[in-house]
Amino acid sequence: MNAVANADMNAEPRIDLHTHSRASDGTEPPAALVAEAVRTRLDVVAITDHDTFAGWAEARSAAAETDLELVTGVEISCFTPESGYRISLHMLGYWPDPENAPLQDALAELRVSREIRAEQMLRKISDAGYDVSWDELAADAAGGVVGRPHVARALVRAGLIPDVSSAFTPEWIGGRGARFYVDKLELPAAEAVSLVRGAGGVPVCAHPRAVKRGPTVSDETIRRLTRAGLAGVEVDHPDHDAPARAGLRVLAGELGLIPTGSSDWHGTNKPTPMGAELTTPEAFARLREQAA
Ligand code: AMP
Ligand code: ZN
Ligand code: FE
Ligand code: FE
Repeated sequence: MNAVANADMNAEPRIDLHTHSRASDGTEPPAALVAEAVRTRLDVVAITDHDTFAGWAEARSAAAETDLELVTGVEISCFTPESGYRISLHMLGYWPDPENAPLQDALAELRVSREIRAEQMLRKISDAGYDVSWDELAADAAGGVVGRPHVARALVRAGLIPDVSSAFTPEWIGGRGARFYVDKLELPAAEAVSLVRGAGGVPVCAHPRAVKRGPTVSDETIRRLTRAGLAGVEVDHPDHDAPARAGLRVLAGELGLIPTGSSDWHGTNKPTPMGAELTTPEAFARLREQAA
């Protein structure tokens, strides 16, 4: 085990493989993400911003001053067909080569689409008579990848809702069919698996059973993605209930997928503290073995 920053040497290493910084829709800069990982006594933390590597350099410099092991990762916006419908799926990729052109190009397209769609959502909201400004949203995003949490924060600033979570409802931007929701570009999930593998990275399906986000990813889809090269599946996630976790653990065992656990920390945009869910050292070792 190479990173044992815990004061208690007998304690199992604490590994959280899913966090967001201001490089996407988290509230804290990458250096503060690293500081939070140290504060919560993690030994390993992965930075997995949506559709970008932009937070890596700052996180890496910050981590170099500590005993923390930083895993460079990304969370890619994908979709999958599910009983005749198109549903969103998030694909985590660990240790991809940031210079890999196909992956870079795909992420660049996703980012552009996110910006256009945030503007479209804001326009729908202002057309409905609410006072929200694109300039303020852009300033809040500060050059980072724009997501619905930024739109949610604009609604909070305008006094229209009390907190970010309140935007994720049918009255606002809570997914397909919600009053002001607009789709963004997403990659076919199997393509994201190939892109991550092609860049030497390790693909893990994020929160497939997050019920509150809408329809969930089926066993059959996870099986199909495993044939495409999927390495692991997020089992312990704040949005997974106990039966979901139990089912995924069995499926992972059957398919030889690596079961992970992580907080999906977003700073103050979400209530879950960093380190609230953890990946076992065994699972982390298996992931690492698959990195090219
Ligand atoms: P987007 O990828 O732009 O469609 O936005 C999805 C993001 O919104 C997720 O990655 C979460 O960070 C955030 N999100 C989803 N549901 C909620 C919620 N109920 N409360 C707060 N943030 C949420
Ligand atoms: Zn997010
Ligand atoms: Fe996600
Ligand atoms: Fe996430």
